[in-house]
Amino acid sequence: MSEGPSVQTIIEPFKIKMVEPITLTTPEQREAILRKAAFNVFQIPAEEVIIDLLTDSGTAAMSAEQWAGMIRGDESYAGARSWFHFEQVMRDLTGIAHVLPTHQGRASERILFELIGGPGKVIPSNNHFDTTRANIEHSGARAVDLVIDEGKQPRSRHPFKGNMDVAKLEQLIAKTGATNIPVCMMTVTNNSGGGQPVSLANLREVRAICTKHGIQFFLDACRFAENAYLIKLREPGQSNRSAKEIAQEMFSLVDGATISAKKDGLVNIGGVLLMRDDALAARANNLLILTEGFVTYGGLAGRDLEAMAQGFIEVLDEHYLEYRIRSTAYLGEHLLKAGIQIVEPPGGHAIYIDAAAFCPHIPTDQFPGQALVCTLYRHAGIRAVEIGSVMFGGAAGPPAMELVRLAIPRRVYTQSHIDYVIEAAAEVFEQRARIRGLRITEAPPALRHFTAKFEEV
Ligand SMILES: *Cc1c(COP(=O)(O)O)cnc(C)c1O
Repeated sequence: MSEGPSVQTIIEPFKIKMVEPITLTTPEQREAILRKAAFNVFQIPAEEVIIDLLTDSGTAAMSAEQWAGMIRGDESYAGARSWFHFEQVMRDLTGIAHVLPTHQGRASERILFELIGGPGKVIPSNNHFDTTRANIEHSGARAVDLVIDEGKQPRSRHPFKGNMDVAKLEQLIAKTGATNIPVCMMTVTNNSGGGQPVSLANLREVRAICTKHGIQFFLDACRFAENAYLIKLREPGQSNRSAKEIAQEMFSLVDGATISAKKDGLVNIGGVLLMRDDALAARANNLLILTEGFVTYGGLAGRDLEAMAQGFIEVLDEHYLEYRIRSTAYLGEHLLKAGIQIVEPPGGHAIYIDAAAFCPHIPTDQFPGQALVCTLYRHAGIRAVEIGSVMFGGAAGPPAMELVRLAIPRRVYTQSHIDYVIEAAAEVFEQRARIRGLRITEAPPALRHFTAKFEEV
């Protein structure tokens, strides 16, 4: 073999040793399934989906080492070996002393905001994820989004569209008073804002502002590894550092973090709450025992803690991260080539199609995003999710963007699956004038996207 540059193709850096069959349906079958589900893909059984891009949460494929850890798991009630292993991995990654296991991300949020939220309090973030916002509001506090303006423009190619607008943060503190702001959050990557990363420079600026005003700074760190790798790729001066070193610096800048391990933890269930403050941690442990479980297992089995410990190590493997970020970009770039407008540039875990641009003939009150989701299912058995007027509409009025999210489960689909999605989306785009709008026939008062029923206009 010769020296020097050779094969360029980025491959899936794993082999497949266990397979799960995909049920292939016909267009006629899917038409009947879609009607039975009243044009709501949440109501379709997963077995009747060919490529499931509904979410990247809890849908990862675990590695042989993670499964081996599941067998080794120590199921002792208190002080299990698996707990100490997990705690040591999280301390090594984050440098944060207090590690509380929880059954998933929202349990961490519920504990944190019950302790520091409450009426009269204001909690800023770049964009709060919906469970985070819901838990803040449940405590009586107010959740405020301060993402930079570029983060709201689908075509802006800003490399860090997840950044917080620090001038707006200063204004909010001046107006509200630092004593009414118990914590400033930052979601990495910014899920609600299109999976866009936050730069180290921005994290440092927010840290400095929080320190100046005596405000705690926490990460919503579900996708910390994808964010760290995007920093390595896009931030000047970071390309020679490892993703792990960058992630460690991200955690070094904060007082704590809430994490759903169902994302970059590479597991199907699990969460973490991290904090430096001893007194706060003591109170959090009391709540943990009240609703999740003893402090050395949270709501989890010992085997779950082993799988998480291994997942938080594996996710920082640079071959994995290169493949992960590259495969998301691959989907996004090919959709753009086919003429389909997406939120640019591609972020970490998902591609967001601009459904308003895709279906200009469908007015907002006929749900262009939902109509596109149904058409993708009918055409090729692909399940995506609407993030637009169905999810956020109602009393508050239509949201700024009508999006359809294609979330990519970790290590589950190969390039040919993604090629199938690209081809199907391009075919649907060719025939886009035939996509029909929808009207709601039945909807619950809250969170209507899960159960609403539709018919075609
Ligand atoms: C998924 C997610 C959560 C909530 O985690 P769950 O495990 O679903 O409870 C919180 N924040 C962000 C950014 C998320 O993506």
